[in-house]
Amino acid sequence: MTPMMKQYHEAKAACGDALLFFRMGDFYELFLDDAKTAAQLLGLTLTSRDRDSDNPTAMAGFPHHQLDSYLNKLIRAGYRAAVCEQVEDPKQAKGLVRREITRVVSAGTLTDDGLLDPREANFLAAVYLVPVKSSGKKSGGEPAEPQAGIAWAELSSGRFESGVFPVSRIEDELARIGPAEVLYREDDARFSPDTTAPWSWTSRPAWSFAEDASRDALCKQFEVHNLEGFGFGDADGPAIRAAGAVLAYLQETQQGGLDHFRQICAHHRSPVLQIDASTRRSLEVTRTMRTGSRDGSLLGVIDRTCTPMGARLLADWMAAPLVDRNAIEARLDAVSELVNDSRLRGDVRTTLKRTFDLTRLLARIATGRTGPRDLQQVSRTLENLPELKAKLTDRKAERLGFVEAHLHLCPELRSQLENALADECPLNAADGNFIREGFDEELDSLRKLAAGGKEWIAAYQQKQMETTGITNLKVGYNRVFGYFLEVTNANKDKIPTEYIRKQTLKNCERFITPELKEYEEKVLAADDKAASREQLLFQNLRHETHRHLNILQEVAVAMAELDVLAALAEIATQRKWVRPELTEDSVLRIDAGRHPVLDVTLPQGEFVPNDCVHSPESGMILLITGPNMAGKSTYIRQVALITLMAQAGSFVPADYALVGIADRIFARVGASDELSRGQSTFMVEMVETARILNTATSRSLVILDEIGRGTSTYDGLSLAWAITEHLHEQVGCRTLFATHYHELTQLEETLPRVANLNVAVKEWNDEVVFLHRIVSGGADKSYGIHVARLAGIPKAVNERAKDVLAQLEHEHRDALDRPKLGGPAQADSNGKFQLTLFGFADHPLLDDIQKLDVNAMTPIDALQFLQSAKEQL
Ligand code: ADP
Repeated sequence: MTPMMKQYHEAKAACGDALLFFRMGDFYELFLDDAKTAAQLLGLTLTSRDRDSDNPTAMAGFPHHQLDSYLNKLIRAGYRAAVCEQVEDPKQAKGLVRREITRVVSAGTLTDDGLLDPREANFLAAVYLVPVKSSGKKSGGEPAEPQAGIAWAELSSGRFESGVFPVSRIEDELARIGPAEVLYREDDARFSPDTTAPWSWTSRPAWSFAEDASRDALCKQFEVHNLEGFGFGDADGPAIRAAGAVLAYLQETQQGGLDHFRQICAHHRSPVLQIDASTRRSLEVTRTMRTGSRDGSLLGVIDRTCTPMGARLLADWMAAPLVDRNAIEARLDAVSELVNDSRLRGDVRTTLKRTFDLTRLLARIATGRTGPRDLQQVSRTLENLPELKAKLTDRKAERLGFVEAHLHLCPELRSQLENALADECPLNAADGNFIREGFDEELDSLRKLAAGGKEWIAAYQQKQMETTGITNLKVGYNRVFGYFLEVTNANKDKIPTEYIRKQTLKNCERFITPELKEYEEKVLAADDKAASREQLLFQNLRHETHRHLNILQEVAVAMAELDVLAALAEIATQRKWVRPELTEDSVLRIDAGRHPVLDVTLPQGEFVPNDCVHSPESGMILLITGPNMAGKSTYIRQVALITLMAQAGSFVPADYALVGIADRIFARVGASDELSRGQSTFMVEMVETARILNTATSRSLVILDEIGRGTSTYDGLSLAWAITEHLHEQVGCRTLFATHYHELTQLEETLPRVANLNVAVKEWNDEVVFLHRIVSGGADKSYGIHVARLAGIPKAVNERAKDVLAQLEHEHRDALDRPKLGGPAQADSNGKFQLTLFGFADHPLLDDIQKLDVNAMTPIDALQFLQSAKEQL
């Protein structure tokens, strides 16, 4: 094996399952299996290193400047990559160039601007499952629900949180956090990563989840004696383990530079509106269902932030709306003030647009990846703070006061950076020439000397030309000989004797003189010294900025909040949204509500607004019937979204809204997105519905769309019926239920808090026109066949369907006219038939039961009858 391949194998052994990018001159190369994987994933050409040997080494590579784009592709495909760089100058290396892995990149540890969407957070999460045996028993003797620790951190901002959650909520919490990569314990048999999840999974050794080691590492990182100050208590072991795993992974992949992780937040301290993973997906809060992209989601459509920090915070607010009324009102107060004062809003937004992503800049400073341009951006951000702060002085809203108080101006740092940095700064410090003239005397004089030396050389060239009469004589420079005089062969005879010959080329000769060498030394030394002086000054500036890390992080938080508040005010003004009124009661009233996404995306005036009232008097369960395509789903989603927005602190698309603060929102809408997960539509639907029935409280908001569609009509109808009854009797929460089962409208008569709504439809010349207007009362007809025609089903098929429908309706009526059951299953006082009729009307057992003479039966007879009845079922 060649020494280089030996070096390669050593590096490869150190980087685990990551693909190794091995720097060789101007290229990055991958070898062996890595080369094959990369060739396939990245479309690289697969070659081999020692083609003539019996066992050639597979190899694939690309020019170094393409690193970012290839890393990006690889990471999006769920892989990890280790970058092994040449860490010494090949020209100075004795023998083999030294190489080291300088970073390991995975989806959760990306920091490069080129690979990250500035508007989106990029979290690395870890999940730790508490072994069941140690989770203890509840006082009642029932086994306690198993617990898990979940931690999440963002390398590019230093955010770090961790909490303990019931195992059943892992999926929902991960969906809320939306991580890019999730760590789990490799030896945990109970944990099987869901490979369809939009993040990548990385298994980690058990030791990295060890509790004591995690606690110690976290204390060391945050320079504290214990973690209580961050809100962690005795029961938080699992959260600490998960956080420890995250920290260990970051330390391993980043090789230091985690100074910006200054604290960890214990998650359980802040209750939020609970939204499970499938509700989040169905409501398209931060991503659309179809493409999974931010564009077209609620967040994408309402986002008017001016900074990436604001965009990320808005995503947080929408992903985790609040339940504490005071906290929501505080946000609304601030939005309101910014709505009413358009000048303030405009000024704030204009100023914010001139600032930079302070959070990520600070992370780069902390991780030592800073260049002059980063510092300049910090300085330009600071430059705008006085104006922002002045605008916010003496405002009424408490949150604006908070922002004002946290916009620390850092005047010394600002003036230092401003005075030091040139107008145009390079990305890398190594490029030099970014310190402004007049900032540092020593640098100025070195620069002058270097420049003076160059002037002297120019003058020297001129003088030599004149004294020798060689008109094309010139002074040149190369790394080996330094400065030299070059004379072409044609002028050979004019060369003075004091010239010292250094090099003979084809057409010319090169000489030096003692004078020239003397100046060369001065110039080169001055250049060198100036460069190192500049690096030193840069390090000082970086250090000085680093010293302000804590305070600047507070500034970043305040700027992000201001941006979000102003953005919410901006969209509210643009779309004429109103401030919702909040109440703790479980009620809802929306006048002329609109769907926030359609309101923005449909042409002005095309969206038909609708009201919604939920109250014990007017109905807690609203059953919405009407044909497909009428607008039922849109309506129920709009109510859920308005509630969610209100609790996030946003104005809402309506003329008026009274929102009872919900503890949870559930949406059981459509199941098509679940099919890829290998479960039947119906199973998924029932699992989700079961969850709603088991966990909804009287303060929840439930929206159900077409429950029971995945099974036969009677099955589905019976289920929908029973579910509605349960929600009405047991849960009592606000419910919107869109259904095409007209039969359900009968429930309004027996259940006092059920109200029927339907979507108005105009029939005209056998055509159906959807008015998208929700009116009270049940729909009396299904228009599926009309919709089918709109969709382009051939006319003949449509006509035939109409005949079949007529026939079926006829038979159905016949069945209803032939009641065979006694008791409650028969027609009630209104002449309507109850549900059980559908399932059992024709069962022969019913005849047998009717024939029984119960008074004449012995207990044994009864039991025998039951036994035989059971066998017949
Ligand atoms: P359903 O659930 O009754 O089948 P949808 O809610 O999916 O119907 O709506 C069908 C179409 O009608 C959607 O494409 C939507 O754009 C449009 N629509 C729904 N509600 C409205 C409304 N209030 N105003 C205007 N267009 C609407």
